[in-house]
Amino acid sequence: MARIGFIGLGNMGGPMAANLIKAGHDVIGLDLDEAALARFTDAGGRKAASLVDLASEADAVITMLPAGQHVRSTYLGDDGVVALVRPGSILIDCSTIDVATSRQVAERADQAGIAMVDAPVSGGVGGAEAGTLTFMVGGTAEAFEAAKPLLEVMGKTVVHAGGAGNGQAAKICNNMILGISMIGVSEAFNLADSLGLDRQALFDIASTASGQCWSLTTYCPVPGPVPTSPANRDYQAGFTGAMMLKDLNLAQEAARTTGTATPLGAGAQQLYTLFASDGQAGRDFSAIIEYLRGRDDEPS
Ligand code: NAD
Repeated sequence: MARIGFIGLGNMGGPMAANLIKAGHDVIGLDLDEAALARFTDAGGRKAASLVDLASEADAVITMLPAGQHVRSTYLGDDGVVALVRPGSILIDCSTIDVATSRQVAERADQAGIAMVDAPVSGGVGGAEAGTLTFMVGGTAEAFEAAKPLLEVMGKTVVHAGGAGNGQAAKICNNMILGISMIGVSEAFNLADSLGLDRQALFDIASTASGQCWSLTTYCPVPGPVPTSPANRDYQAGFTGAMMLKDLNLAQEAARTTGTATPLGAGAQQLYTLFASDGQAGRDFSAIIEYLRGRDDEPS
């Protein structure tokens, strides 16, 4: 049994912490939101009185926070996790944040002699609840080995992506592919409608031809061909447009700072910005098909 400090007990962190508790670990938690804390203590977690308390008790600290600024303020400074935690602890940041912040925080931890990994996830709230998340992990081989047993409690697949920040790099590269491919598949179905090509016929052909991809075969943006896709429930998320936009923004930030040409990533970011500002940020990201078509133009 490990003594684990868990910071950020929201939609993802709450069920992830609950799985650690179920596996017999002693989990002490912090969140700014009283309702999230109440769900955590109901699941058998212990509420930390302060960050000092949490850090002084924990063998491992896991964070699942909204963005880079929250990770920086939680880990750095005289009253941050890196300064407060016990020597020999492992720090695991599972938040999706920018690569630069992730590497900056890991470097400070390294300077303090504390092992740290970035371990963003794929799999959403359903995966967090079921303990089937995929973790993309950045950090040294030793830090990866120290984090792995805890990540395996919360996930099904744990992949070492290389040094610090490479977990975040893998996450934004993957989600840039996803955003671009969903727009591509959506454009193809809209063109098929215009040409009088049956949607199921396009699906049957493209899903076994060179157009095959996850956005088509698992998350098909039109109702019918894949009964479990959000298109069959009026694009109830799933993975929201806001979350897709967050990850595309992170990808563009990384492309800018590294001088990498990603014209389709930039186009996807612009389209999802328009989608979100059209009041659709809370819908599943596959509803971009309706935005591209013009929502009132559903073919009969
Ligand atoms: P959420 O808003 O539900 O949870 C974040 C929690 O962090 C909140 O409860 C908030 O009160 C708490 N928090 C914020 N600042 C804090 C601080 N300084 N100290 C303590 N607690 C603090 O968000 P979420 O959906 O759980 O997402 C968390 C992270 O996981 C994000 O980085 C997101 O991009 C990533 N992610 C989410 C999903 C998803 O489907 N929701 C999927 C993959 C990755």
